[in-house]
Amino acid sequence: MSDHPEHVVIIGSGPAGWAAAIYAARASLNPLCIEGAMTEENRIKGTLPKGQLALTSEVENYPGFPAGNLNEYLKTAISDNRKMMLNPDASHGIDGPDLVELMRQQATNFGTRVITDDVVDVDCSQHPFVLKTLEGQTIRALSIIIATGARANYLGLESEDRFKNRGVSACAVCDGALPRFRNKPLVVVGGGDSAMEEASYLSKFASKTFLVHRRDSFRASKIMAERVLKNPKIEVKWNSTVAEVLGDDKAGVTGVRLQSTVDPSKTEQLDCSGYFCAIGHTPNTDFLKGQLKLTDKKYIVWTTPQRTYTTVEGVFAAGDVADDYYRQAITAAGSGCQAALDAERWLAAKGFE
Ligand code: NAP
Repeated sequence: MSDHPEHVVIIGSGPAGWAAAIYAARASLNPLCIEGAMTEENRIKGTLPKGQLALTSEVENYPGFPAGNLNEYLKTAISDNRKMMLNPDASHGIDGPDLVELMRQQATNFGTRVITDDVVDVDCSQHPFVLKTLEGQTIRALSIIIATGARANYLGLESEDRFKNRGVSACAVCDGALPRFRNKPLVVVGGGDSAMEEASYLSKFASKTFLVHRRDSFRASKIMAERVLKNPKIEVKWNSTVAEVLGDDKAGVTGVRLQSTVDPSKTEQLDCSGYFCAIGHTPNTDFLKGQLKLTDKKYIVWTTPQRTYTTVEGVFAAGDVADDYYRQAITAAGSGCQAALDAERWLAAKGFE
């Protein structure tokens, strides 16, 4: 363990983490980013370094990256030892993994140090705070920015994993407008506001949208549920669940097999080119083990409007780990910037130069 505590430790490596790192590095805070570990457990959970963006395909709604051939730019922007992280065929705007790789590169260009490891324990009861990692490192920090994001919940089917990025998605706003989904039947699973929003959004592109819900009434707010029920392009499949996502290696998703939740012997096959799982998200906050106040859904509580403060002074939160409402790459990046500015001002006010 070093004698000197870090000024700012950023935990997490999605848009919130890298934006925080870019701002903290440019403020001469010499940030350390703990980006997560490349473990099989993280792969299965969907919590590998670089977060949810690294799990999406094309990103068309991040300002500054219009559709076009960005290959030459990517080749020159990313350092040689990281080029294997790029999609060699990108020719359509930017891919999520490439976008977040550019963010990482930008952060390291300004001097951010990166550790590829998981934080497994945080002690906020003492200052400097003490962090412990999976690989056994102990790191002391004057301030911490938590940007560990959230992961989409899936039903847990093997067939979902098989077709992720090839028709299986958990974000209609991110993926819905892609060519593979246009004018084709699509399936959404869930009965909450997210599922209503996804189904309504997708109905603009799809030839027809099936909304599959396991009960006979929605959990969603009345207004959003009514919008769905009135939409002639959406058909609700009540008391049903998806038992299997169907498809093949060439076409990706081609359909789903539904199963009745009332009479499991009843099944039905729907043809579709996309399957959107909208059954909620889980924020990556387990490692905090009660150190910060969380909402009942385990999101970090921001204590002050327009600030990234948490219930512990000197600990800031950015992105989806504290935001279950907007959940976009651009909003996460924005709050990462805010967290770095909040940390910088807090350190200065406390006299930690
Ligand atoms: P949610 O409200 O927790 O709803 C999750 C839905 O998924 C429920 O209908 C649940 O079914 C279903 N579900 C959960 N596990 C399932 C499983 N294993 N198999 C089948 N179905 C399953 O989550 P959310 O819709 O993501 O919303 C999260 C929060 O964000 C809510 O507070 C919501 O109001 C808010 N939000 C607001 C807006 C908006 O206002 N524009 C948009 C999106 C989200 P059951 O109903 O049977 O439990």
